[in-house]
Amino acid sequence: MIETSHLSKIYGRGIYALRDVTVSIQKGEFVFLTGPSGAGKSTLLRVLLRQEVPTEGSVTVAGRDLARLSRRQVQTYRRGLGFVFQDFKLIQTKSVLDNVGLVPRVLGETSVQQQRRTFQVLKWVGLQHRMNAFPEELSGGEQQRIAIARSLVNEPSLILADEPTGNLDPDLSLEIMNLFRDINARGTTVLVATHDRELIRHVGRRTLTLDHGRIAEAG
Ligand code: ADP
Repeated sequence: MIETSHLSKIYGRGIYALRDVTVSIQKGEFVFLTGPSGAGKSTLLRVLLRQEVPTEGSVTVAGRDLARLSRRQVQTYRRGLGFVFQDFKLIQTKSVLDNVGLVPRVLGETSVQQQRRTFQVLKWVGLQHRMNAFPEELSGGEQQRIAIARSLVNEPSLILADEPTGNLDPDLSLEIMNLFRDINARGTTVLVATHDRELIRHVGRRTLTLDHGRIAEAG
């Protein structure tokens, strides 16, 4: 699903955020990406989201060389991914339903299909009863579940998450990880960046460790 080859990302005057990263993640895997703050985790996720392009080396996702995508292809590529952030990134002025349902509307689905998918994913994260609530009325754990529902609405084959439990207490963090585990069990490839070693031990999946931009351990 993901192949990087001698991937480096250099910022400004010679800061290697990533250095010679060669990794392979198979379709259907659940992989953690860890390492201390500044190790390059977010940079790697941004490269996979095609928000950044590598300075050196290559990256392919589902057979697509990300350096060769046109602007239009980048949009299509991103729509096929799910992503989840530490700070949820929900739109505060929109209801849960609209936050989750926004994505299919962009894709131009009919409203019936769109509503059906939105209800489905909300039910799946156990929050269909909060569909008319606004983000500020929800707990952090609930907000992240909504963000996960939103990431699933286009049925992505790959989900990328950047410190998705960074704002949550340990119990809620585990709950969120269990959701990712369930998503993975349904066949979706999952890559979760976290510095939380305890959580990784608990979930027990292959772990890529970055250190100063290099792969220190590939699991
Ligand atoms: P992590 O997510 O593991 O904390 P990052 O990928 O955010 O690490 O950062 C890796 C390194 O790249 C750090 O030294 C950081 O300061 C640097 N870096 C990240 N983004 C930028 C940027 N846009 N411009 C310059 N340096 C950056």
